[in-house]
Amino acid sequence: MPKWLRISILLVVLVLVAGQQFLGKQRVSSWDEPVWIAIYPLISDDREAQHFIDTLSIADLKPLERWFAKESERYGMLFQRPIQLHLMPTVNAPSPPEAPADRSPWKVAYWSLELRYWAWKYLDDGFPTHSKIVMKVYPKSIEKLPGHSTGLEKLKLGIVKIRGNRIELPYLRFLIGHELLHTLGASDKYSYADHSPYYPAAFLEPDKKPLYPQNFAEIMAGVIPKTSKTWQPTNKLSLIKVGDDTAREIGWQK
Ligand SMILES: [Zn+2]
Repeated sequence: MPKWLRISILLVVLVLVAGQQFLGKQRVSSWDEPVWIAIYPLISDDREAQHFIDTLSIADLKPLERWFAKESERYGMLFQRPIQLHLMPTVNAPSPPEAPADRSPWKVAYWSLELRYWAWKYLDDGFPTHSKIVMKVYPKSIEKLPGHSTGLEKLKLGIVKIRGNRIELPYLRFLIGHELLHTLGASDKYSYADHSPYYPAAFLEPDKKPLYPQNFAEIMAGVIPKTSKTWQPTNKLSLIKVGDDTAREIGWQK
C-alpha cells in the first residue's frame, strides 16, 4: 500500500473514532451501568503459548471481576459486577505496532494512529464494549518479554504481554486490571526510574503509624511499600486495592 494511502486511511479512522470516544467518555464516568471489557487473545505461532490461549476460559478471569466488585463496594458502588469481562475468540492478526522507544511526541502520535488503525482492522465489535484488551502470549521459556504492556485511555485499548504459563494467571489478572484501569483514566502511581511507589497515592494506609511496612499494594503501583527504600511487587489480588487517587481518576469518588 502506498504511504499516502496508508496515512489517508489512518486519518479517516482518526476522525471516525474521535466521535465515538466523546460518547464513550461520557458513558463511563457516570458508572450508572456496568462497564463491559472485551479481552482478545492474539493467535501465537508457539505451540505451548497457543495451548495456553486455547485452554484459557472466562472462569480464569472471574477472580478479577470479583475483585473489582469488592473494591467498588468500598467506594459505595452498588453493582454486583461493575466491570464485566468478556473473553473473545482468538484473533488471527499480526502483533500490534510497538510503542516507539524514544517517546518523541510525533512518534507517539503516529504510533497511536497506527494502533487505532490496527484495532479497527482486526478487533471485531461483537457487541458494545467500553474498552478492549489485547492479550499477546509469548512462549513460557522466554526470559524477557519484549516491550511493555500498555493501556491507553484515548484509544480505550490495552495490550497485555505475558508468558503462556498457567502459573502466571495471577499476574495476568493483575495486568489486565492495571491496564484496563488505564483505559478508564487511571494513571501510574510509581516512578518509571526505579519503580518506587508514590506517596501518598500508592499507600493504602497513608496515615499509618509507623508508616512502614504497608500491608497492601495500590493497583496502579503493584508494589507494597516495605520501608522508605524498599517495596515488594505482588500479583495477589487479596493484597491489592484501589487507592483514593485512582478511584477519583476513574470516577468512583469525587
Ligand atoms: Zn501502568
